[in-house]
Amino acid sequence: MSHDRTNWEAAVRRMCLALPETYEEQAWVGARWRIRGRTFAHVLEILDGTRLRSCRQSSSHFSIDRSDYREQSRLTLPRVEGQSGRMRAPENLLADCGSCFGLCCVALPFAKSSDFAVDKAAGEPCRNLRQDSRCGIHSTLREKGFPGCTVYDCFGAGQKVSQSTFAGRDWRQQPSNSSEMFAVFPIMRDLHELLWYLADARDRDSAATLHDRLSGEYAELDALTESAPEVLLSVDVSGLRSRINELLLEASDLVRAEVKGKKKNYRGRDLIGARLAGADLRGASLRGTYLIGATLRGADLRLADLIGADLRGTDLRGADLRGSIFATQFQIDAANGDGSTRLPQSLTRPSHWA
Ligand code: SF4
Repeated sequence: MSHDRTNWEAAVRRMCLALPETYEEQAWVGARWRIRGRTFAHVLEILDGTRLRSCRQSSSHFSIDRSDYREQSRLTLPRVEGQSGRMRAPENLLADCGSCFGLCCVALPFAKSSDFAVDKAAGEPCRNLRQDSRCGIHSTLREKGFPGCTVYDCFGAGQKVSQSTFAGRDWRQQPSNSSEMFAVFPIMRDLHELLWYLADARDRDSAATLHDRLSGEYAELDALTESAPEVLLSVDVSGLRSRINELLLEASDLVRAEVKGKKKNYRGRDLIGARLAGADLRGASLRGTYLIGATLRGADLRLADLIGADLRGTDLRGADLRGSIFATQFQIDAANGDGSTRLPQSLTRPSHWA
């Protein structure tokens, strides 16, 4: 199959839609294809998605993950060990659920699985969503079978769409707007995720030679997020990802170069369940690496590139992630850590960690 992103996505779509009764939906991440309410294929694009990675069976469906989560002894860290990086996350890229109309709980579909207790179609309000747009089981999501909700991060797209794009008009009061609002939301979320990565790279001293380009891309993208719904709906997100990815790759190389010597390159590797306790992964490339259920207890991940790394159920107890680049809150939320896990300063310790 061609590595060309557009071609292979179209090919997957053609194959799926050729089956009787199949329909496509926007999923929490990526797109999925379903028959009679059951998902049988799910494409995840983690960032720029230029390589078909794998097909794997899960309890309810198989997923086709595509990632191009980029490349990349004892090593000596310069200056302030592991503390390189931004001090805190940009406010506009942090979810503010109180200013959102519960968009992630309505616009996105989910399938009954270990992550969600029930099936829900796109555009259908979750049965737990209250009229005030708050979750009725917020404090017991994991116990009630909705752990998937605890690891979702809209990067502030929810309040942007609710308060800016649609000027504070709730979908409940203006049902005619709802389908457009629900379609804009996942696009805005993708744009905000890219802003998150750009901001992370821009705030690195070691990427100073790229600051002008990073700031330019950030400003351009930020302006795009202020556009009208019809403009946002026409955005070529994949094209944007590809373009910005090149710049993020350059930034990653510069940041990881703070670690001298040879660095591990696990880009896109399948390390599901791997035993990497205590591993020296300083400055490593873990781009798009599958680390589901892996043991990274006590591992040194300072200045590692974590973009798109799948950390679901990864044991990060005692691990050191300070200064790691492109880490996100939802990755951390999906992993298991404890009080001794050291996080990048822009991220917070999940409440479910011991
Ligand atoms: S369970 Fe709560 S957080 Fe999850 S989709 Fe439903 S309302 Fe939203």
